[in-house]
Amino acid sequence: MNKPLQEDLDSLERIIQLVSGQGLNYLKALHTRYTTADIRIPGQGALPQKGGGSIAALQLFNQRWESAMVAASGPRYWGFVTGGTTPAAIAGDWLATVYDQNTQTAKGEGDLSAAIELETIGLLRELLNLPECFLGGFVTGATMSNFTCLAVARQWLGNQQGTDIAKQGITQQLPVLTATPHSSSVKSLAMLGMGSGNIITVNTLQPNREAIDIRDLEAKIRALNGQPFILISSAGTVNTVDYDDFAAIAALRSHYNFWWHIDAAFGGFAILSETHQHLLKDWEQADSITVDCHKWLNVPYESAVFLIREQHRLLQVTAFQNSNAPYLGDPLESFNYLNLLPENSRRLKALPAWFTLMAYGRDGYKQIIEESIRLAQIFGAFVASRPELQLLAPVRLNTVCFTLTAGNAERVAAFLSALNQTGKVFMTPTLYKDQPGIRATFVNFRTTEADVELVKALILRLLPHYK
Ligand SMILES: *Cc1c(COP(=O)(O)O)cnc(C)c1O
Repeated sequence: MNKPLQEDLDSLERIIQLVSGQGLNYLKALHTRYTTADIRIPGQGALPQKGGGSIAALQLFNQRWESAMVAASGPRYWGFVTGGTTPAAIAGDWLATVYDQNTQTAKGEGDLSAAIELETIGLLRELLNLPECFLGGFVTGATMSNFTCLAVARQWLGNQQGTDIAKQGITQQLPVLTATPHSSSVKSLAMLGMGSGNIITVNTLQPNREAIDIRDLEAKIRALNGQPFILISSAGTVNTVDYDDFAAIAALRSHYNFWWHIDAAFGGFAILSETHQHLLKDWEQADSITVDCHKWLNVPYESAVFLIREQHRLLQVTAFQNSNAPYLGDPLESFNYLNLLPENSRRLKALPAWFTLMAYGRDGYKQIIEESIRLAQIFGAFVASRPELQLLAPVRLNTVCFTLTAGNAERVAAFLSALNQTGKVFMTPTLYKDQPGIRATFVNFRTTEADVELVKALILRLLPHYK
């Protein structure tokens, strides 16, 4: 063993103490750390001939890069849909690294960590009130979850048309209907060779909605003349958190033959809110569902799950099987995640979610979800109360989508940039129905009413400059 490596092994305790101490300092000061870093990126580092060991690497990281670490997991990082990291999730994540399992089987020799993943999927199903007929697994994010679900949908559609797409490739048109898909579903269709340009776009409800117009959906289905198709629906669009009408979609299933996918990346967690769970009525009738964990579950990146009906297991294995052997026998006996999703080798991705679910339970998450919704309403009411600001849509769940009343694109961009450059809050720009806007999303368990007050004060100070 080379010397720095041997020395590191001998001083492992000190390394772990130093690293955990640094992590602790970061977490303790998270509410005051900047959300936008005002630093110069250092030039390209050089690969050393002889390394200096972990502690020297830590010092080098601190000199070169530590100040570039923004408070992405902090209470006022409201851009995108960025969750935080609960203490239990951090514990699970660190231990997943330390244990370094290659999670594939639940019964195999040498590894059975998939049993933990299956247990975690069970916990999530319980949290989300979903039935046991959904088989799930962990992937890196909702993008890969959408990809996985749509890959099985593609296999199903091929099967309906009498082809095995995994073997033969795509030989026929594969109709996909959707109204306001997340960009990652469009990207998935591109990656799957289905062609993002082949989407049949269904109208949204009028006025000012992102949810699917069911009457137009039915008209577009009729135009397919009985061809089976894939429907991508939304449980929470990113701009205005609009939900498709799942009860109406479920009712269409008795008349038409389609694969029903729901992207519920963050919106699935609305099931925990007594005032909003109705938005998910009948969602459990879908064929596949995407849920992100690194958003509202507040576990570190990269964590999301796909949930696909067990009845499609054979199609799923046909789409993803890693061996040429046909899938035969008892599915649990030969259960292996590498035949069910894109990756082969994977870390024990479920462990952060397992820890946090066990640590805080249903009540803990219900409180997080309800508090996020409450804070979004408070911030939304503030926006609505200011003549200089305008909501682009009602606050339907946890996102406030707004703009300047007198806002052309440049002015909105300049205002957002000035706000973000305070380093105290971070929001992201958007375009909603051709209007330049700003999004603030609440999914972090750390965010409090005091944070909302702080941001309100910042905005009030800036507004006079952007009339
Ligand atoms: C965030 C998000 C995605 C993409 O998720 P990643 O975790 O970034 O891959 C997909 N769909 C919706 C609705 C989202 O909010």
